[in-house]
Amino acid sequence: MLKEKSAATLAPASARARSMPRSAIREIMALAAEQTDVIHLEVGEPDASTPAHIIEGAFSAARAGWTKYSPNSGLPTLRQMIAERSARRWGVNVAASQVVVTTGAIGALFTAIVTVVETGDEILIPDPGWPNYESIAHLVGATAVRYALPAQKGFLPDPDEIASRITDRTKAILLNTPGNPTGAVFPRALMARLAEIARSRGVYLISDEIYEDIVFGREHVSAAAFGLGPNVFIVSGFSKSYAMTGWRLGWLVCPAELAAVATGLQEPLTSCASTISQKAGEAALSGSADCVAEFRDLFRRRRDILVEVFGKTGLLPMVPEGAFYGLVDISRTGLRSLDFAKRFLVERKVATVPGITFGPSCDRFVRVAFTISDESLREGLQRLRDYIEKFP
Ligand code: PLP
Repeated sequence: MLKEKSAATLAPASARARSMPRSAIREIMALAAEQTDVIHLEVGEPDASTPAHIIEGAFSAARAGWTKYSPNSGLPTLRQMIAERSARRWGVNVAASQVVVTTGAIGALFTAIVTVVETGDEILIPDPGWPNYESIAHLVGATAVRYALPAQKGFLPDPDEIASRITDRTKAILLNTPGNPTGAVFPRALMARLAEIARSRGVYLISDEIYEDIVFGREHVSAAAFGLGPNVFIVSGFSKSYAMTGWRLGWLVCPAELAAVATGLQEPLTSCASTISQKAGEAALSGSADCVAEFRDLFRRRRDILVEVFGKTGLLPMVPEGAFYGLVDISRTGLRSLDFAKRFLVERKVATVPGITFGPSCDRFVRVAFTISDESLREGLQRLRDYIEKFP
């Protein structure tokens, strides 16, 4: 008689799943959920609602029957719009066949990495940088090797350092500009150097440009501005520019042969991005761009509040030039960033993100996001400043 496999012999969750790097932000969010009247400086998404014409686009598309699967690579009309937008911005030719629509920019990042990175490969990621880069590397069995974004250099990388970290096993360099958590925007000459290093050393360049529309008096320079070479992947999306985080819509632009491979990966990943969201995306790209400028101006005003509160304290290592984050120096407290963030949250009811979430170099900072109302932001930042300054 066949013996039934008992629960006691069931294998545990996979080693890879169990060893997933755990983000310190989860601890802060769990702690914040237990408190009342918390000011949220930890939330990395726009507080504004998606503009009405985009929501209307989704409603009318759903009523008109756009409720089925789309092709793996996305709706041809949306791909065409993204290609035209990209070509206009970069000054290079981009065809719809080079665009893959994904479930959020995270879907595009995951796709780009899986398209070219093999188990055992190395991928260069920024320190500090968005924690999901390391998590994706972990999931594909690659090694994430960090390059520095030093605070004293305005959180910009040294191209020579990046070049020196390239080994036989390096498959890709991941860039993020405008940067999370730094707010740094890479200047044109730096981007040109980085594009040249990746090209000449034969490694892929995966450029995360999800905050491309949120720059304050600076130009955003895409890695594709120097040509969409055979090694270049550009990641962007709707989440931040159009306040569409919940719609889960992003894209990848890369050479057509790689886009074909990336398209094949969509089938087992998500099959396709939500068709209704894609129609909303079409409404976003075909409608007025005023909302994008309004969001940018709003974040700029809030960035100025950050500077107003911290400007003369020496606690703000760099004035953010893009995205909606700033790093605040907590080193005079002598606390590790996670301990600081927990204590500050419990004692002063303000949630921040411990810098350690973004990499080992960032433990002397906490990240604040300027994604809440001006008054709450001012109050939260003032409490942060008072709390740090009360340490001798
Ligand atoms: N890249 C960076 C640097 C981000 O901060 C985020 C979201 O916070 C993403 C990518 C993911 O964007 P999406 O919500 O479109 O998946």
